[in-house]
Amino acid sequence: MKLIPLPAFQDNYLWFVHDGHKALVVDPGDAQPVIEALQRERLKLEAILVTHHHQDHIGGVDQLRDATGARVFGPAREKIPEPLERLVEGDRITVLGLDFRVLDVPGHTAGHIAYYCENFEGRPLVFCGDTLFSAGCGRLFEGTPQQMAQSLEKLASLPGETRVCCTHEYTLSNLKFALAVEPGNLDLIHYVKRCQDMRSQGQPTLPSTIGLEKQVNPFLRTSVPAVAQAARGHDASTPPDAVSVFATLRQWKNEFK
Ligand SMILES: [Zn+2]
Ligand SMILES: [Zn+2]
Repeated sequence: MKLIPLPAFQDNYLWFVHDGHKALVVDPGDAQPVIEALQRERLKLEAILVTHHHQDHIGGVDQLRDATGARVFGPAREKIPEPLERLVEGDRITVLGLDFRVLDVPGHTAGHIAYYCENFEGRPLVFCGDTLFSAGCGRLFEGTPQQMAQSLEKLASLPGETRVCCTHEYTLSNLKFALAVEPGNLDLIHYVKRCQDMRSQGQPTLPSTIGLEKQVNPFLRTSVPAVAQAARGHDASTPPDAVSVFATLRQWKNEFK
């Protein structure tokens, strides 16, 4: 089974999985890179998994469905072109022989879902769209800080070795902010070096893992004293609870240059 991030647009990855015969793709904002990958490897597209309704995640869905007859799965509570098999928390689907469990992760959009596979060739994996990024998280377009903090907590509770397949290569810019929050975090400092090396060689920094994100991602570290202190340093009125710390960090990141 191969797991490949197909680059698209400026900084999107269309996650593409295949077993040499059949394929699935996650959030195909553009059909063209997927069609090329299918032709190159002579694969049949079995399914399209959608995490949320933004155009850079669904723009290629109609064309791919029409060209291949693939089944399309997506969030129950979002406006996405039909026909679509609509999913909510706890639903299970099997694609390419892989079992995926659906997680509701609202915050970036109101109905955002993630797809968790406990056993992808012996290790877990999650397709989390624009909810969790490496060293960052999605902007709150439709949800509250409370919702997003809960969604991130749900993802953080997955096993540490879970590979995090998110949809944008934002890692280096997220890391600049993470360093501003936690300049003394040695795991973070080492990770910055690794990511700079990967990017300078043209490699994706993804997938990350849940265990690594818990060490370097300020949005998963809101209960770490140094992170809470940095949030209060930015906005002295921040109450001490994790959701308030999260809200201040998210606001700070929005303005961060
Ligand atoms: Zn989005
Ligand atoms: Zn996006």
